Amino acid sequence: MIMSKILITDALHENAVDILKAAGDVEVATGLSVEELKEKIKDADVLVIRSGTKATKEIIDASENLKVIARAGVGVDNVDINAATEKGIIVLNAPDASSISVAELLFGMMLSAVRNIPQATASLKRGEWDRKSFKGLEVYGKTLGVVGLGRIGQQVAKRAQAFGMQVVAYDPYIPEDVANSLGIELLSVNDLCQTSDFITLHVPLTPKTKHMIAKEQLDLMKPNTIIMNCARGGLIDEEALYNALKVNQIRGAALDVFEQEPPKGNPLLELDNVIGTPHQGASTEEAQISAGTIVARQAIKILKGESAENVVNLPMLPSEKMNKIKPYMILAEKMGLMAIQLLDHTIDNIEITYLGELATEKTEMIKRSFLRGILSPILLAGVNLVNAPVVAKNRNIKISEGTMKENQYGNALKIVAKGNNDEISIIGNIVDGEVVFRKINGYDIDVKPEGDLCVIRHIDRPGMVGKVGVLLGEYGINIAKMQVGRKEPGGHSIMILDVDHTISEDVMSKLKEMDNVRTAKMVTL
Ligand code: NAD
Repeated sequence: MIMSKILITDALHENAVDILKAAGDVEVATGLSVEELKEKIKDADVLVIRSGTKATKEIIDASENLKVIARAGVGVDNVDINAATEKGIIVLNAPDASSISVAELLFGMMLSAVRNIPQATASLKRGEWDRKSFKGLEVYGKTLGVVGLGRIGQQVAKRAQAFGMQVVAYDPYIPEDVANSLGIELLSVNDLCQTSDFITLHVPLTPKTKHMIAKEQLDLMKPNTIIMNCARGGLIDEEALYNALKVNQIRGAALDVFEQEPPKGNPLLELDNVIGTPHQGASTEEAQISAGTIVARQAIKILKGESAENVVNLPMLPSEKMNKIKPYMILAEKMGLMAIQLLDHTIDNIEITYLGELATEKTEMIKRSFLRGILSPILLAGVNLVNAPVVAKNRNIKISEGTMKENQYGNALKIVAKGNNDEISIIGNIVDGEVVFRKINGYDIDVKPEGDLCVIRHIDRPGMVGKVGVLLGEYGINIAKMQVGRKEPGGHSIMILDVDHTISEDVMSKLKEMDNVRTAKMVTL
């Protein structure tokens, strides 16, 4: 058997190097110039990098045998994914490598905050022997509220249960039975704030999660609450947090991340009831080892022709097939993005129907594109065409597929996404090479799913369109296009506004308060 050539061009932990040595001829060559790297990569089967090596198109194009680029870490911004995908090269990463390290730091933070360990250490080192000022509380029997029950949130929850804590969580994208099987009760974010003694955030930073803990939530918290953020700065409104902590409205905060890093002149750091670390969540020996060993094992799986979990891209299908399928993949992804932004609740059921000639095509990639669309806005990293079905399965999302050759839309796609209390159905097709949504929840429309759209579900009454237009006009919001769909006069209707930029929360609230408006949502596609 011919041994594979494995080229490692950044410092990789020796455990990872050993794993790779068992699978091929390993060459470790760090600090290479572009020309040197182009030369060495020519006959390599695997390239293993961390953040130092830039796997640009120029480098990738210089390779003749390359099958895998393995990035020992989370971010793949130093790899030209498109160039790799075009050449059929699989790109791997290790998004899970730091989950345990972050979860453990969180526990360090929680115990430090509740027992005043940093403050007591500083006092001791000043030569004091103060046994009164640092009295704390036990965590045993207390309630921990976990916001975001993903990789890290679940690790945190498990450890909290071992400490004898009750765990509640807010994560609208996790099915209730999955949470219950982990012994966790799902609550709304406000109920979580009201009931928890400790609150910890583990969600990605997105427009939806920015400042999700603001004055309103802080005002709901109990006086002894400690809030912790080892996820991303910006999830907590720092000004509101400062105001609450300054007057001891809540007990304390433990922060590993800040809206601005480094947090120069941040007044939070002047408060005695705040403890912090400089974004240290992933900073452990083990997280580094695991990043290396995870990708090493997966690269070997791929060399053996097996499938791997953390594939970031997917090699192209034969180009003729791809040209036919690609517009429907784009349509499907847009449908997923639209559905998740319109749904208020957990997705637990998805139906995809392939209409017209699509009924006889290989549609796996279309399904995967839809899943990527519906899952990527709620998950931090790594939902891609390869792992989307696995991610959906782990979230207990049931997927059914059907076909219907004869229909009024020709080659088209219909999706239905169901949650606990809501359901979105969309029919879309391709018109003159462009993606078009033709029906939403049974209402006929004709919408290009692009940019910012405001979707209003309302009761059909004379003057509704005018009233919405006037309100948005008052706030200087330009409507480029407006569509209204209804099933019968005076019944439920839908209005879709193509606006020049996203509408603020304040104006959205005014829209929602208008007579006969049932729901109003901004979606970005
Ligand atoms: P993940 O993608 O596995 O989990 C995120 C969870 O958040 C998912 O379960 C998702 O359903 C949920 N979610 C998404 N939008 C939500 C919303 N609007 N409301 C409630 N829940 C929502 O991510 P992860 O790997 O667990 O990472 C969690 C966070 O930790 C991320 O912000 C990440 O950047 C951060 N992180 C920090 C460090 C550090 O050094 N401090 C290191 C690694 C990761």
